[in-house]
Amino acid sequence: MIKKCLLTSTALLSMLALLSFVNPSTINNLIGNFSHQELQLIYDGAKEDPMRILSITNSIDSIVLRKKARDILNTKDTNLNYLAERLYATVTDSSSMGVGIAAPQVGLLVNLIWVQRFDKEGFPFEAYWNSKILQQTARKQDCLEGCLSIPNRSDTTHTRSYAIMIEYLDAQFEKKIELVEGFTAVIFQHEIDHLNGILYLDHLREEQ
Ligand SMILES: [Zn+2]
Repeated sequence: MIKKCLLTSTALLSMLALLSFVNPSTINNLIGNFSHQELQLIYDGAKEDPMRILSITNSIDSIVLRKKARDILNTKDTNLNYLAERLYATVTDSSSMGVGIAAPQVGLLVNLIWVQRFDKEGFPFEAYWNSKILQQTARKQDCLEGCLSIPNRSDTTHTRSYAIMIEYLDAQFEKKIELVEGFTAVIFQHEIDHLNGILYLDHLREEQ
């Protein structure tokens, strides 16, 4: 038995030695959803560390905020969970608390948002992947909106649909279709806009 264990340990050690020559990011890059550069950004802090929020006051940031996010393809990629944790830490951080956030706001052009569900008991934050609006009501609602990427201002928009039908993958990567209405529907519309490079200020221009 001891010999067997030793052999197993030796085999394991050789495997580890072999793996140590391969950059773990390269492995993730091959099987996952992210580039090496994106992985560096995701792992530049612990899971509970907030990430830097891009701001329209920074010219490079504002270019990124105007880009479209891509859907995630490989749901087995463990980097997704790490990114979701970090984005949650960001939206709930005392210095940048919001009711929603989209991954492009931290410089990652992937389809991930967190939304605080004011239509559910306890107002939980929930993560959604690959979100899309399937249908929306012609009926609009007025809403006072602010944005973590647009400092020191808030404005009332009049173009948000009262209710929306959305499709997404939930935190367990199960596909769902859901009807959302009221203020929570505005949060979804605001965050899904971010995935398409749209900011709430664009809705103010639309009204003029
Ligand atoms: Zn925003």
